[in-house]
Amino acid sequence: MSNDYSKLGLKIGLEIHQQLNTACKLFCECKPLLFKDDPELVFLRRLRPTQSELGQVDPAAFFEFQKGIIMRYESNEVSSCLVEMDEEPPHSLNNEAVETVLTAALMMNAKPVDEIHIMRKTVIDGSNTTGFQRTCVIAMDGWIKIGEKKVPIQHASLEEDAARKTGAEKNGEIIRYRLDRLGIPLIEIATAPVIYSPKEAQDVALVLGRILRDTGKVMRGLGTIRQDLNISLSKGALIEIKGVQELELISLVLEYEIKRQVNLIKISNELKKQNLSEDSFERNFIDVTNVFSKTKCKVIRKAMQKKKRVYAVKLQGFAGFLKRELMPNFRLGLELADRARYWGRVGGIFHTDEIPAYDITKQEILLLRERVKAADQDAVVFVADSYENSEAALDAVVDRSIEVIIGVPAETRKAVMNGTSRYMRPRPGAARMYPETDIPPLLIREEIVKKIKSNLPEPAEKKIERLIKKYRLNKKLANQLVNSEYYLLFKSICKKSQVNPTTVAVFLTETLKALKREGVKVEQVPYDQVMEIFMGLSKGKLTKEAISDVFVWFSKNDSKKLSVVLDSLGLKMYSIDEINSIVDRVIAENKKTFKMYNQKSFGLLMGTVMREVRGKADPALVSKILKKKIAHLMS
Ligand SMILES: [Zn+2]
Repeated sequence: MSNDYSKLGLKIGLEIHQQLNTACKLFCECKPLLFKDDPELVFLRRLRPTQSELGQVDPAAFFEFQKGIIMRYESNEVSSCLVEMDEEPPHSLNNEAVETVLTAALMMNAKPVDEIHIMRKTVIDGSNTTGFQRTCVIAMDGWIKIGEKKVPIQHASLEEDAARKTGAEKNGEIIRYRLDRLGIPLIEIATAPVIYSPKEAQDVALVLGRILRDTGKVMRGLGTIRQDLNISLSKGALIEIKGVQELELISLVLEYEIKRQVNLIKISNELKKQNLSEDSFERNFIDVTNVFSKTKCKVIRKAMQKKKRVYAVKLQGFAGFLKRELMPNFRLGLELADRARYWGRVGGIFHTDEIPAYDITKQEILLLRERVKAADQDAVVFVADSYENSEAALDAVVDRSIEVIIGVPAETRKAVMNGTSRYMRPRPGAARMYPETDIPPLLIREEIVKKIKSNLPEPAEKKIERLIKKYRLNKKLANQLVNSEYYLLFKSICKKSQVNPTTVAVFLTETLKALKREGVKVEQVPYDQVMEIFMGLSKGKLTKEAISDVFVWFSKNDSKKLSVVLDSLGLKMYSIDEINSIVDRVIAENKKTFKMYNQKSFGLLMGTVMREVRGKADPALVSKILKKKIAHLMS
């Protein structure tokens, strides 16, 4: 397959954004914590970027801005202050975050810049109260090794995360954001576009993720890492897919995107053979409401009750193409629909390739075709909405259809959890940056770089070697551990507890992976609770067999003391006194067997006791007590 990829001229670049778990936010002293409860403070705002800022805004962002949307910001005291509300200038840049990025950058062989210049990147969707996002390059021109290949790292930067969109009201006229996420430090790493297969991209992401975790300062759980993929084929276009949240999804998302582009190119070639071109389309949007006057289609009926009308456009030569599959469960019609939704704010579109469906009859379609003068080889797209929205939607449909003839349009897409992606917006123009005036440039001092350099975390190969030698893990387990988020946790568990390192490693890799597959929210359990579980095991408060159950309990319930958990799970261990009395009782109940004491009767007694205390007593301890008692009685 890699051969095929090179024939296609596949090029991939990665951009990884990872939240840092620093003591406070990037430009103020607020805690980088998301809150679940009701907000303590709510305020409304409409963004009014200055003209000079808007001059650099791309058309799509400007379109968003023109919608006149109102932002409803929610906050609480722990996670936001006047800085997040844009009522106060930013405080100084968070040093801990700078040093974390420097650490990661040096591990990627990048060169720190002499001076940090904070820049503003225009963002006018309301996710930043200021209308821009602050970002600064910390280091440049690094590389990481993937097998024998050096993959260049273009830059390692530090930026502030945006506010968190939590919903919308009044048909999208008011958008709700939470300020808790705004200002959380993000490290951004960008590779050069020299990755040539989905598998290689996944490997690069794995190594980058490992380096970031090695700093010991990254947040964990869904949403704390966002990977953007830039992908192009020589006959396709540059596509940016934003927001892949799971490492495991990267190669799938890329494979699907390659399929999408290959299929779009195929369709383009077929349409060109029919001599179709930009001029084949008329932007003639016809009111076909009458066709549906007695329709059983619920969506159309509802729209008509709201005084909306049905408008249609003919797409010459497109019959059959709108149902062509671009990726699994994703047809060309969906591309048109997404554009219509974005630019026309409509709920969706109908097209003749998907009918009969939605209770629209063949008779209605015949009439519809007649009204727009469509021949058999033409497709018809129609939409039920206000004239204003319908016109914008159908305009966007025609624009997208012209692009179908040309090939693959460059655009920004959003990753979906099933591996596909959806249209998000056109690609933003370049030069959206201008300098931050509230914070002067900062020197990166030579001593700091030296200090960090002399304390860099070990590279992966060294760690694997140490795990095998010092902790006697097998190679596979050592590998898995180094590639997981639990390497540092493993070391501290082994340092503090007496638990067998292999037991710890198996749990942190294989068991947790299995639990995750079963749907357990593994990332909900903080590291210190995992530590508590193993300390409990070490002190004999629970058995090895109970670790998983306790862990699952922690993932579902707010933090409680281990003893409370063991109680509620009925996993409380027997005390030595309790074991003694159980053993005494079992011996008394089995006097006959005992009188004929031999090795067999020990096994029998042991089995009887264990049936009663399994999971609540350490078998080694039970055996010791039982043997002692037998020896005592025999003497
Ligand atoms: Zn703050």
